[in-house]
Amino acid sequence: MTIRTRFAPSPTGLLHIGNARAALFNFLYARHHGGQFLLRIEDTDKERSTQQAVDVIFAGLNWMGITADEEPVFQSTRQARHTEVALQLLEAGRAYKCFCTPEELKEMRERAMAEGKPPRYNGMWRDRDPSEAPPGAPYAVRIKAEREGETVIQDLVQGEVRVANAELDDMIILRSDGTPTYQHAVVVDDHDMEITHVIRGDDHLTNTFRQLMIYRAMGWTPPNFAHLPLIHGPDGAKLSKRHGAQSVVEFRDEGILPEALCNYLLRLGWGHGDAEILSREEQIRLFDLDGVGRSASRMDYTKLSHIN
Ligand code: GLU
Repeated sequence: MTIRTRFAPSPTGLLHIGNARAALFNFLYARHHGGQFLLRIEDTDKERSTQQAVDVIFAGLNWMGITADEEPVFQSTRQARHTEVALQLLEAGRAYKCFCTPEELKEMRERAMAEGKPPRYNGMWRDRDPSEAPPGAPYAVRIKAEREGETVIQDLVQGEVRVANAELDDMIILRSDGTPTYQHAVVVDDHDMEITHVIRGDDHLTNTFRQLMIYRAMGWTPPNFAHLPLIHGPDGAKLSKRHGAQSVVEFRDEGILPEALCNYLLRLGWGHGDAEILSREEQIRLFDLDGVGRSASRMDYTKLSHIN
């Protein structure tokens, strides 16, 4: 099996240090195993995606010496394919049309909350005939969640993680305006791009359980998953402006060398044992996921300037 990894940023802001680390780990993992590293720009959210953010991603990766092995894929160009898969799921009875109005959904949420339950979709249209909907009424496409059993992930960093399927609701894969949701687009693209390893921040772990519903419903083999612990500030709190630079471009503009930043990011959460600066060749030779720890890492800015 040829290992294929990807970095899939949304071009909605700066190239955050956490994303840069995910990019580096994906790149090194692919190179270490003689595989390929791909780049996908997740620009489906038209309101929030900007060309400037796309430029910042390219500039940041370039500066860090992270190069993709194929042309970048722009997710927005793949909408017809996302729709095609959603229609296949509808046809196979693994998804259904939901004609709920925004008011009905709001009421459903409020009722659940008042009863102290999580605000999940209650499956209102799951077994109803679409002919009961008013003619021409807009609909979203929802995937049928399994109601029994468990979903288990053998995560390459977190170990075994499981959730009861009853916790997952019938999520939307196609919105009523015809656009695919993030959960759906990611699965279709990772499958079509033949990604074997998805390495990303552990803030995506709950998404993974939901995305696995689509793999199962399509009969696709899911990739391996590795969820990286987040990077915190020196005080243990979520990394923010008050801690200092957060984006790759800021570090560059402060005169930090790309080798210093890459080495620092590598050391952050990956125990290779010593403190020497590793060349790119050594990084590729030594890097593997089994050295990645499970707990959040703390960014120590003083160390970074010291390396430089
Ligand atoms: N586009 C997502 C983000 O920027 C990442 C998706 C993924 O890695 O699966 O958070």
